[in-house]
Amino acid sequence: MHHVTLIRGDGIGYEVTEAARRVIDASGVRIAWEICEAGAGQIEVCGKPLPDGTLDSVRRNRVALKGPVTTPIGTGFRSVNVELRKALDLYANLRPAKTLDGIPSRYQGVDLVVVRENTEDLYMGVEHPVGKDAAESIKIITRAGCERIARFAFDYALRHGRRRVTAVHKANIMKLTDGLFLQVVREVAAGYPQIAYDERIVDAMCMQLVQRPEDYDLLLCPNLYGDILSDLCAGLVGGLGVAPSANIGREAAVFEAIHGSAPEIAGQNIANPTALILSGVMMLRHLGEEAAAARIEQAVLGLLREGREVTADLGGTLSTDDFTCAVIDRLSMQTTSQ
Ligand code: NAD
Repeated sequence: MHHVTLIRGDGIGYEVTEAARRVIDASGVRIAWEICEAGAGQIEVCGKPLPDGTLDSVRRNRVALKGPVTTPIGTGFRSVNVELRKALDLYANLRPAKTLDGIPSRYQGVDLVVVRENTEDLYMGVEHPVGKDAAESIKIITRAGCERIARFAFDYALRHGRRRVTAVHKANIMKLTDGLFLQVVREVAAGYPQIAYDERIVDAMCMQLVQRPEDYDLLLCPNLYGDILSDLCAGLVGGLGVAPSANIGREAAVFEAIHGSAPEIAGQNIANPTALILSGVMMLRHLGEEAAAARIEQAVLGLLREGREVTADLGGTLSTDDFTCAVIDRLSMQTTSQ
């Protein structure tokens, strides 16, 4: 039995987390879910959007599946996502981007993974005003931070049959910070002779990704470039509704869709739960449940490929519930045909 924290989030979070939970339970994997809350609504309940109880639950269970959370504007609270990554030191953000049969995209044959450093860089939010008319933001890059994300990327490449790691940087301009990143990544790369290694300057990388994304395999990025490139890569393969992700640290891992809380469609039973279900597939693999993960993936990809039983964002007519039931029906058909 696995113990997993289910953070329902807000907006469409309730609907898509419920869909993913039902599909995972239907796969036969035994999970004791600990249901927790996060989001703007929690400010009234406990004074902050990320309750201590939710954080404690993830610390205890070490694995969470998380729904999207609206970032409150003008409350002075940091985003729940940034807060979780920081509190749990979830230093590696993993975002696969693969063209899927049945999902409209301008490209074919894209099969990329973005590995993004999740804790350093301009994202540390060390900013201050300089006088009245200027402001400064400090970019922090450390040897330890670079080394652990580089090892994560090369180990991931080895375990998942990836052949090439491309480091993305701007060391021609930021010679000390991105320069240190490159220097450390090169040192780590030397210990993995079986994986090809190369480098791209971030602006050139953007152009090459829109011209020939199929040429790339695993992109290793500092935090800010990784944030931008991973959305670009989601766009290459058909967008937000189908893009999963994982935030991984030494003590815990949090799996979530890339998309946000889509408040304008919340509560209407029309959100596409695919991205969160596929995040659940990543979570099951992390838990060592490969067989169940493969079965769910096959069921979801089969439905997308046929294109008839899909949600409105993909041109179909199914509700969130109906799509969830269609995935569960496929799973039970697999079981009976075995
Ligand atoms: P969004 O991803 O919520 O929505 C962008 C567009 O995609 C909208 O048109 C929306 O309806 C659509 N969409 C998104 N997910 C969908 C789904 N599963 N099915 C069908 N359509 C879907 O992005 P946004 O509008 O920029 O952000 C809304 C809120 O979410 C903001 O407060 C933002 O800060 C937050 N956010 C949270 C996370 C997270 O929790 N990981 C990530 C991104 C944004």
